[in-house]
Amino acid sequence: MKRRSFMGLLTALFALWVAAAPLQARDTGALSAAKIRQAVQEAYEKFKNDDSGKNADYIQALAKVDPKIFGISVVTRDGRVFEAGDTKAAVSIQSISKVFTASLVMRQHGAKFLQEKIGANATGLPFNSIMAIELHHGSASNPFVNAGAIQSTSWVSASDSAERWLKIKNNMDAYAGRKLPFNGEVYKSEVNDNKRNQAIAKLLDAYGRMGSDPLEATTVYTKQCSVNVTSHDLGVMGATLANHGVNPVTGERVLQEAYVPRLLAVMATAGLYDNAGDWLFATGAPAKSGVGGGLLTVIPGKLAIGVVSPPLDKYGNSVRAQKATIYIIEKLGLNPYAQ
Ligand code: GLU
Repeated sequence: MKRRSFMGLLTALFALWVAAAPLQARDTGALSAAKIRQAVQEAYEKFKNDDSGKNADYIQALAKVDPKIFGISVVTRDGRVFEAGDTKAAVSIQSISKVFTASLVMRQHGAKFLQEKIGANATGLPFNSIMAIELHHGSASNPFVNAGAIQSTSWVSASDSAERWLKIKNNMDAYAGRKLPFNGEVYKSEVNDNKRNQAIAKLLDAYGRMGSDPLEATTVYTKQCSVNVTSHDLGVMGATLANHGVNPVTGERVLQEAYVPRLLAVMATAGLYDNAGDWLFATGAPAKSGVGGGLLTVIPGKLAIGVVSPPLDKYGNSVRAQKATIYIIEKLGLNPYAQ
């Protein structure tokens, strides 16, 4: 009797091991250090001389950034780093900041609030469209178009706009695991040229959608876009989302685990401007780009890919960043829909 139950236990353990084996093999296989290192290096070599695309110039200071900058950083959910190129060169974070402010809104008010107050749908129109707001009866549709981003900023709970900015900046710093530098030149250039964003904020206010003064919120939003990041920073920030909301370098929890899939879902829906569908078709991966030339891609539960390269395609997405990221995802078999 005793002997039989011992054999039974052995058989059960063997069955468990067999069931888990393919999973383990796939995980360690795809994510072995040597393979990641090689994919990152190859992506860098393959695209470093690709000079297609053009820096954004509707914000004057962005036109002056060195178009040759090209840095790639992969950061795994357990904090391992694999890099190539100009990984210490900084660009302004621009629209990628929208991810972190939306995260802060969820952290403070919950996911339902973000969905109901701002939205989680694609607009099918340009990121700074005023018509999109009108077509959707005053709704910004999602937190990654300018309307939804300025709205997110306005809903960050704070006693005044100075404190609101501090909370937004501290939150981005917590994701990056360091005090991110502020780019005064980009801020000055943009704050004198953000009349369209002011108009968007005023229109949303007319629809009763803003949580604080619309012009103050626009200024705070412009500040958050002017924070500098390297590909390394973007890698760590993304790895925090891949690691279910805990920064793998500092160990700090910056977002409740339950909200991470919600944020990633919005990135998948609206992360790459009007080309978000084509991006998802190619990669299956939630990502967010910015007109400074940054691209942050998250492979949920595994790793993040941060790339910086200023020249953009016609949609406003970094050309080399997209190519390098697609290469790494294909090479390592990281498309989440193919798992
Ligand atoms: N600060 C930029 C703007 O409001 C951000 C644009 C972007 O990166 O998409 O126009």
